[in-house]
Amino acid sequence: LLQVFMPLNILGFIYREVRRCLIDVESMFKLLGHRSKLTICPQPLAVADDFDALRFDRVSFSYDGRRKVLNNVSFDIPKGSKVALVGSSGSGKSTLGRLLFRFYDVDSGAVRFGDENINQLDVDDWRQQLGVVPQDTVLFNETLGANLRYGDPTCSDEELAEAIAHADLTQFIAKLPDGLETMVGERGLKLSGGEKQRVSIARMLLKKPQIMIFDEATSALDSRSEQSILAALASVAKDHTSLVIAHRLSTIVDADNIVVLHEGRVVEQGSHQQLLALKQHYFAMWNLQQQSQQSD
Ligand code: ATP
Repeated sequence: LLQVFMPLNILGFIYREVRRCLIDVESMFKLLGHRSKLTICPQPLAVADDFDALRFDRVSFSYDGRRKVLNNVSFDIPKGSKVALVGSSGSGKSTLGRLLFRFYDVDSGAVRFGDENINQLDVDDWRQQLGVVPQDTVLFNETLGANLRYGDPTCSDEELAEAIAHADLTQFIAKLPDGLETMVGERGLKLSGGEKQRVSIARMLLKKPQIMIFDEATSALDSRSEQSILAALASVAKDHTSLVIAHRLSTIVDADNIVVLHEGRVVEQGSHQQLLALKQHYFAMWNLQQQSQQSD
């Protein structure tokens, strides 16, 4: 019996690994938009286990070498803090995320992890330090449990339960007749946008990255989903370093620092209250969103 099961087990493992790689590649290309222009450092450094802050230090960048999409952008994400990026469509928020992932190199300035320019770090090692909750989560045709374990296939049941609790999915799973064994994906249970994002949050927690990036979905969620995501985010961000690329300002009022981008430049940064008091860009964005919520 063992002779039959061992090869089947190995085949199952290979199948899962190949599928996992395909999903990674698919997500990467979505994030990239087009080909990478990365230059590889010949003698890369290993990533340090600890850091005081992640720093965007006078970063400028252009996709085509002509139009500057980011212009002298500087801000810090101190370890343990939650920093939010806001700004109108096309202001450069996702581009900063791509530079952080090293899908492109900056034209001038640097992104630093502690004292180290991330250009000097081993790319794969560096990306291992980053966890992302993308706008659109990819679910594969597997059980919900397997989809969650994608963050760390070797995690224990206790670690999984903890991640599920932090991602505010415990009640949702308890209501499913087959619980974690429920099949999801194209051929199984369809999850809502908010539920999928919470699956991503749990996956990211299992991966245990040093920095968490939350790319908020542009499409509005119903207010119950939004509250649930907010609760999950607050629980996750409490003990972690996080960068939130935000479209709805209501989700980031508790951020330690909010960086406002406009046409590739940082025009303001501070807490929600500080930025409101300035009565400029953020204040205008906040009022506009409040008005549109009232008219919904
Ligand atoms: P949104 O809120 O709509 O997602 P954003 O603030 O994330 O916008 P980016 O996606 O960073 O903005 O885009 C910044 C600028 O760079 C835009 O003018 C955009 O047209 C341009 N841009 C983005 N991706 C590319 C690309 N792959 N090639 C060339 N230009 C790009």
